[in-house]
Amino acid sequence: MKGRIYSVTGAASGIGQAVVLRLAELGARGIAISDVNLEGLGKTKKLCEASEVQIECTRVDVSNPDQVDRWIADTVSVFGRLDGAANVAGIAAGDGDTTCQTIKKEEWDRTISINLNGIMHSMRAQLPHLPRPGGAIVNVSSTSGLRGFPYSAAYSTSKFGVIGLSASAAGEFGKEGIRINALLPGPIDTPLLRERASSGGFDADVTSEATCLGRMGKPAEVAKVLCFLLSDDASFVTGGMSHANMRTIGFLRI
Ligand code: NAD
Repeated sequence: MKGRIYSVTGAASGIGQAVVLRLAELGARGIAISDVNLEGLGKTKKLCEASEVQIECTRVDVSNPDQVDRWIADTVSVFGRLDGAANVAGIAAGDGDTTCQTIKKEEWDRTISINLNGIMHSMRAQLPHLPRPGGAIVNVSSTSGLRGFPYSAAYSTSKFGVIGLSASAAGEFGKEGIRINALLPGPIDTPLLRERASSGGFDADVTSEATCLGRMGKPAEVAKVLCFLLSDDASFVTGGMSHANMRTIGFLRI
């Protein structure tokens, strides 16, 4: 990844932040990082201070296509190119008792706008700039994208959508030498998961037990897989789903 330029959404926290640190460690020349949380982006940038990488921080709401387009256009004009993209930004809205009968329209729309439409807006902005061959995109879905889950309809639906979207795009751009994969982490110890646990969505200990390894993953462990998928070492991997580590898929309630 030496000398290359990447974009990362959702880079202020959790998995996105870990991806930025990993890209810096692997020798990326520049990383355009975005999030709605500008302060968090500053912290991510500070964590990369020891490496040579140039980090550009931009406040971008991925559900807003104009903001995403402007960010990617600016990235290409600052760095001169874009080699790969990690589309990580996402939310897990709602409390643990929301059903398909009680879910509010706003909550449904917000989840789909960020988790699914946000990935579409990002890819549409990134694809024209990626090198052919050699460009790569990784979109973060979830093991909740493999099976519907009670009290998690909006989140699960958005993550199912990311898998279909990524596989469709992989089929469209494979012949041009661009690879697009969906990554489906199991439970990872991040603020998103902790908030979900504290709002009663699931029991963190029970969920850990449901993984093959009997524990939650760390953001850095996901970042290693994501950066492998972005790298040339994954040159024959596209349209795929890399998923991790669940004996029972999804979140378990008490
Ligand atoms: P996190 O909350 O630590 O990070 C998510 C980041 O996305 C935050 O910095 C947040 O500010 C940002 N964000 C939220 N809305 C945004 C918007 N509209 N525009 C731009 N940025 C926005 O959570 P995380 O666990 O690191 O989640 C990262 C991704 O991984 C999400 O897509 C999530 O669904 C997915 N995921 C997480 C887990 C898990 O267990 N933590 C499991 C599977 C998938």
